[in-house]
Amino acid sequence: MVSINPLDRMHLFNRSKIIVIKVGSSLLVDDDKSAINTAWLEGIAGDIVALKESGKNVVVVSSGAIALGCRLLNIQNGKLKLQEKQAAAAAGQVLLAHAWMEALGAHEVQTAQILLSPDDTETRRKHLNARTTMLALLQLDAVPVVNENDTVATAEIRFGDNDRLAARVAAMIGADVLVLLSDVDGLYTGNPNGDGTATHLSKVSQITPDILAMAGPANEAFASGGMVTKLEAARIATSAGCQMIICNGQKPGPLTRLQTGAKHTLFTAMQSPHTARKQWIAGSLTPKGKICIDDGAVTALESGRSLLPAGMISVTGQFDRGDLIEVENNAGVVIGHGLSSYGSDDAMLICGHKSNEIEIVLGYRGRDEMIHADNLVISDI
Ligand code: GLU
Repeated sequence: MVSINPLDRMHLFNRSKIIVIKVGSSLLVDDDKSAINTAWLEGIAGDIVALKESGKNVVVVSSGAIALGCRLLNIQNGKLKLQEKQAAAAAGQVLLAHAWMEALGAHEVQTAQILLSPDDTETRRKHLNARTTMLALLQLDAVPVVNENDTVATAEIRFGDNDRLAARVAAMIGADVLVLLSDVDGLYTGNPNGDGTATHLSKVSQITPDILAMAGPANEAFASGGMVTKLEAARIATSAGCQMIICNGQKPGPLTRLQTGAKHTLFTAMQSPHTARKQWIAGSLTPKGKICIDDGAVTALESGRSLLPAGMISVTGQFDRGDLIEVENNAGVVIGHGLSSYGSDDAMLICGHKSNEIEIVLGYRGRDEMIHADNLVISDI
């Protein structure tokens, strides 16, 4: 266990551009009344607005649809069948999104609802679309409010799914920090409720088997507090270069508290989201095609810019939008790899055209870039 230097904590938020906040149902929904805990929501909205005012982009992943929907549809939130949970989520999501809209709208911050399935974050093409939409919303100064699209979920909906979803969202958009607001203040070496020797960990640098063992599954009661899924979320987030924090969100203004020293566990990432994404692009996919580009485009790419159709000389192979393609110079040397914004048929049509001609050539307005700089890795040659 390493105690955390307050400077690290300051750094964590100071250097972050994108922060994902995951809010659990138990914080947002008052159990007795199955209604939104308005005072708490107003507090967190104030925290989020303060972060935005300090120049951060914030994404919220919020649970609570099922808990709220149960009351709306008059069903007991106990052992629900899958279709009852899905029905409850469908009804409750309207209220949930509305509550966030009101709470942030009071500060003149616009919200946008995003419902995702695990598949949307894992399938590359959907992943790229969801990522681009979310980044566009952030650029437009809105706060995306994300939940799982429970209506189309095929697997059992379980408590804790949103921990993983939040980590996948954080990885997908290249967030710097993911904060899981929970009813526990972090990871302990055992169950703090039963084991008097259990100690709190303020920082975890690696998710080792010993760390995993601290969450259960032997310890059912503690595991149901969601520590198993939280560690799974930490693995997803940190391997994508995103730091993760677990802290207790029950008291008002939890994000402000966190920045002023509230107890938490920080899971550190070994690399930046940018580096992790480039590794993912370069290392884990097989190229499906090739694009040859002119010297002007080579220079643009080497200075960190995107590949525009105007710089393309030829296209080979059969690929879909989102597939990995090789980029070669006109001497046939591969100079990089990237994820294509177009399938090969459309790529051939727009090859050599200016971006403002894409709509005329294809009949629809696609992306300006053939490969966006964020999705491009230039080889060290
Ligand atoms: N998507 C579920 C809901 O909104 C929550 C799942 C979870 O809490 O992890 O109720």
